[in-house]
Amino acid sequence: MKKILFIGTGGTIASVDSSGGLTPELGGEELLAVAPEVRSLCSVDCVQPLNLDSTNIKPEHWMLIARVIKDNYNKYDGFVIAHGTDTMAYTAAGLSYLIQNSDKPIVLTGAQKPAGEPGSDAKRNITDAFICACDDDSHDTHIVFSGNVIAGTRARKNYSKSFAAFGSINFPVLANIQDGRLIRYIPESVGSGVKFFDKLNTNVGLLKLVPGMSEQVLQYLTDQYDGIVVETFGVGGLPEYSDFYGQIKRAVDKGKLVVMTTQVPNEGSHLSVYKVGKILKTSLPILEAHDMTTEAAYAKLMWILAQTTDFYAAERLFYKRICHDILISNG
Ligand code: ASP
Repeated sequence: MKKILFIGTGGTIASVDSSGGLTPELGGEELLAVAPEVRSLCSVDCVQPLNLDSTNIKPEHWMLIARVIKDNYNKYDGFVIAHGTDTMAYTAAGLSYLIQNSDKPIVLTGAQKPAGEPGSDAKRNITDAFICACDDDSHDTHIVFSGNVIAGTRARKNYSKSFAAFGSINFPVLANIQDGRLIRYIPESVGSGVKFFDKLNTNVGLLKLVPGMSEQVLQYLTDQYDGIVVETFGVGGLPEYSDFYGQIKRAVDKGKLVVMTTQVPNEGSHLSVYKVGKILKTSLPILEAHDMTTEAAYAKLMWILAQTTDFYAAERLFYKRICHDILISNG
């Protein structure tokens, strides 16, 4: 029988209704009590390094969760993490970079309704997460939610209330779980020896452009941060009514890393199409996210900046495919 470590971090799944609103309180054993089938799949130990609404989870917590997995890696066959849904896609992306080439699966799940509420999705999601974690062909980091198995670098919370909260962006779901059976569509490669990274540079920002924004917002952020992800419009470009181009140039001249992406939910960026984007691509050392999610680009930039600030070294790392994160990296 496989041995799985169940890591509790909080979220709605573990919440109870206090007078101040839903607050995470339940531990791993209490969560397993709502999904008793899990005990027949594997043997489970529980740890609880955090008990937070995921609104309060920071990249420092991603590093803490990665450390718990590293410390227990040789003792278990897989890891299931109960996590709030609000920032789960960011944590999944962060863990995908902090733990690479893992032959053992790391599966995040949660619920839109507290485990103790009638009709909660917790029972299904916990059971499915353990089914995925016990599958011999599961490797690396995933989100399992509402029957979908999503690569950790491809998830986005698309619905704030519905049970099918997560989508897989610009990439198919890896598998579905129906009636307790895992049906795999995308084979996962077996890790060539797990590699743990202990550090992220958390001094990374994200800017979503809005029509009429002043370049001073970009100036402020590029002054504050070592790296920034800019969500532009459509396939990508910067407005010409304010000197955004000059601010990006100033930032890259100071050695900051800039990733251009799009705020459109699907199909990614293609900066070279329009004059407003091509000028950046052809004249400045910037990175383009293409089909990557913003969550993954943001976490990847933190992982890269912990290793290098040299643009060309960063460029090599950024376009290196990790856990299915990027398909298109040129043009
Ligand atoms: N606010 C909760 C959290 O992210 C929402 C949830 O878990 O569904 O912790």
